[in-house]
Amino acid sequence: MKLCKKCGKYKNNSEFNKNKRMKDGYINVCRECINKIRRDIYIEDKIRINERRSKYDKEHPKQKWVSSTLKNHRQNKFTVNISFKELITIAENSVTCPLCGTKLDWDTGKKCAKSNSPSLDRKDNGNELNINNTWIICWGCNRGKYNWSIEEYIEHCKKVAGVA
Ligand SMILES: [Zn+2]
Ligand SMILES: [Zn+2]
Repeated sequence: MKLCKKCGKYKNNSEFNKNKRMKDGYINVCRECINKIRRDIYIEDKIRINERRSKYDKEHPKQKWVSSTLKNHRQNKFTVNISFKELITIAENSVTCPLCGTKLDWDTGKKCAKSNSPSLDRKDNGNELNINNTWIICWGCNRGKYNWSIEEYIEHCKKVAGVA
């Protein structure tokens, strides 16, 4: 039997890990306690990493938007031929929606997209994303645009406005 310095319980030697440097050949903290310490460190690390990440996301909303947008498009089986860096550059230059002029709200922390949330759009509505066919429009326009080309969408808007 051996005393665990951590939990203060006497346990069988077999409950302790071996260590040649210790007098009796076992470390003086039981395996259960060691596993618990490891788990706590792991959880603490995870919390710390998550906190760091969410702080970073708050300070860099465009990076967050770009990485989740690219991820979503890959998951939805789009051919993503635009790099993170290229899309960041587009995002950096996207202040207003190029279709309606609405100021884009890059505070994308909220779960629900608003009509002025930024949204990735393919000008040609093909299955591939590349630097030439990708731009960022407001969520409202993207939903309204449906799967039309820009020209079709503008025609539609004219009809809505009664000017066609
Ligand atoms: Zn113990
Ligand atoms: Zn718009």
